Amino acid sequence: MRRQLVMGNWKMNGSKAANEELVSVFLGLWQKIGQAEVAFAPPAIYLPQVASLLARSELALAAQDVSAHVDAGAFTGELSSAMLADIGCRYVIVGHSERRAYHGESDQQVAAKALACLARGLTPVVCVGESLAQREADETLAIVGAQLEAVQNLLEPSQLKNIVVAYEPVWAIGTGKTASPEQAQTVHHFIRSRLGEQGAVVRLLYGGSVKASNAAELFAQADIDGALVGGAALNAEEFFQICQAA
Ligand code: PEP
Repeated sequence: MRRQLVMGNWKMNGSKAANEELVSVFLGLWQKIGQAEVAFAPPAIYLPQVASLLARSELALAAQDVSAHVDAGAFTGELSSAMLADIGCRYVIVGHSERRAYHGESDQQVAAKALACLARGLTPVVCVGESLAQREADETLAIVGAQLEAVQNLLEPSQLKNIVVAYEPVWAIGTGKTASPEQAQTVHHFIRSRLGEQGAVVRLLYGGSVKASNAAELFAQADIDGALVGGAALNAEEFFQICQAA
C-alpha cells in the first residue's frame, strides 16, 4: 500500500506573517479530516519558522533544494542535507524544472543531490518531466527515461526504494494547463515500470497546475500517488481540498 503524499511547493513566496496565516488556516481545517501525508516546502529561510508551526502536527517539512556536497565545507550559499535534517526536514525537492532551467542543473547533478539526501536520512522528491517541444516531438518517455536513468545509475537498488518521483511536465507548471489524467497515467506507468526493473516500489507524484477542481481525477489514476502542488498550495483552503481528494 503506497500512502498518498501531497506536497506544497511554495517556491519563492511567503513572509513570516503570510506563512503563519497559511499554516494556521490549514491546520484548523486539517484537524477535522486527514488521510494523506502532507508536506510543506517553504523557502529555505523560513524552514525553521514552518518547522515550529508544524511542530505539534503530523505534517512534514520539505526543502526546495539541497547541495550535492554531503560533507560540510567551503560551499558558499549552499545548504547541506545534514543541515536540512538537523532542522527537521523529512523531504527535499531535487531537480525541479525551474532549477534545471534557471540554474542549469544536469541529470547527473540532480542524481547527486538525491544521493546527498539519502546519505543523511532525507527523502528526495526527484522531479522529472518534458518540455512542450519535447512532448510535441514525441520525446516524452525518452526524456523522462534519461532523467530517471541518471538517478538509477547513481543509487543502489536498495536506495531507490527510498525516493519519491514527481512527474511534472514543464508545459503544465504554473501555466494552468494540466496533463490529462490519461497523459499523466501513461508517464507514471512508464516510470513505475522502469523503477520496478530494479525492484523499487516508490511513490509517484504528479505536478503541474494541480487544483481543487482537477485533483480527484488525477488521484484516481492507478499510478498516481499524490501531487506536488505549486500555485494552489499558497491558498490554505484550496490546498486542503487537494489533500482531501488524495
Ligand atoms: C511546481 O512548482 O512544482 C508546480 C507543479 O507548480 P504549479 O502547481 O503552480 O503548476
